Amino acid sequence: APERRKRVMVLMSDTGGGHRASAEALQAGFEQLYGNDFQVDYVDVWTNHTPYPFNQLPKTYSFMVRNSLMWRIGYYGQQPRFIHVPTQTVSSLFVSKQVAEAFDQYQPDLVVSVHPLMQLVPLRVLRQQARRGKRKPVPFATVVTDLTTCHNTWFHPLVDRCFVPTLYCKRSAMKNGLKEEQITVHGLPIRPAFSRNLASKQQLRKRLGLDQKLPIVLLVGGGEGMGAIEKTLEALDERVGGACQVVAICGRNKALIERLSNRSFSGGLRVKVRGFVTNMAEWMTACDTIITKAGPGTIAEALICGLPIILNGFIPCQEEGNVPFVVDNKVGLFERKPAAIAAILQRWLTSDEAEYNSFAERAREIGSRWKGALLRIVVDLAIMCDSALEIEAIKADAQRALVQCTAS
Ligand code: UDP
Repeated sequence: APERRKRVMVLMSDTGGGHRASAEALQAGFEQLYGNDFQVDYVDVWTNHTPYPFNQLPKTYSFMVRNSLMWRIGYYGQQPRFIHVPTQTVSSLFVSKQVAEAFDQYQPDLVVSVHPLMQLVPLRVLRQQARRGKRKPVPFATVVTDLTTCHNTWFHPLVDRCFVPTLYCKRSAMKNGLKEEQITVHGLPIRPAFSRNLASKQQLRKRLGLDQKLPIVLLVGGGEGMGAIEKTLEALDERVGGACQVVAICGRNKALIERLSNRSFSGGLRVKVRGFVTNMAEWMTACDTIITKAGPGTIAEALICGLPIILNGFIPCQEEGNVPFVVDNKVGLFERKPAAIAAILQRWLTSDEAEYNSFAERAREIGSRWKGALLRIVVDLAIMCDSALEIEAIKADAQRALVQCTAS
């Protein structure tokens, strides 16, 4: 009989868009490198495998993060280990039966968490199952999807590996008791569509129904369509009007989509409104710049596409560090006020091409270093699942080096 495909279970949650995008990236990365050898399932454990009221938690996220003070209290309140370890341990008493059933259903050979609240509880359940002889110990990896500021719940000393995007995150991991040999810095796992050769900018503009000549601005607010999207459009209309086109991607914010679809702009600004799109790589490639909140996924994707970034806000706490990341790396600017954002764009479009070009070049430079992150993470995960693959990876590396050697 054919050997069973190895199964990788990715624990994610549909809070924002970043965790899902990372889970999708891992799934696509495994398929790209190993074809059919792995089955990768991503599972929203809190929503689908915990009882009420725990299964409602992800739904409250969008509301919570919009209330800055409440979110800060919740976030910092749970930051110390002596608080969040007992809190999560108590929750696990209520949810562990269903979480255990999820593991029985998916039969993972490797568990990968891409969410800060999916370390302690699943690790505890897996250990319980191993102790009771229900299953062999399953290797567990965390893939951190924040870029700079990370909540302490991301880091659990009992994970086998923890993949972080930056040295800053590595230091946070070590402060939380992880040892250097548990931590690997590869970058963020970005969906392969961003590293593939897509159609040209002009072709994509045609396909997406965009203007062929005007500069195009992409305006997004993460998976939930957050931030002052409408006010920014009004300011751009007033200041730039018909001199550029804007693509407003509203994510899952249905009210905003409806409002924007039913209004026009008196200054002649041309606006294309979209809800949650699944081809973000195409939209980014077709556009010339991006206005966004400081979401780690969106920032990394924009860098890969070489887009100068205007950050117009951040989710309190976990996205705060991403602002200096963008500004200090000279790939963009931070400006909250819609009128000031419109002024920056007007400057870029009319007088200061040099600033725009230097941001774009730096973005491409940093982005190109991150293109390979996903596959590097996937190779390491695959080896955790099947150590025989290590020798394959070494052979492939040697072969690549040889090809490079003979080519140069
Ligand atoms: N995204 C998407 N379609 C949309 C809106 C967002 O695919 O319509 C993706 C976006 O490309 C990024 C992720 O959702 O990969 C958003 O992640 P980020 O970390 O920027 O912010 P979050 O929404 O998680 O706060």
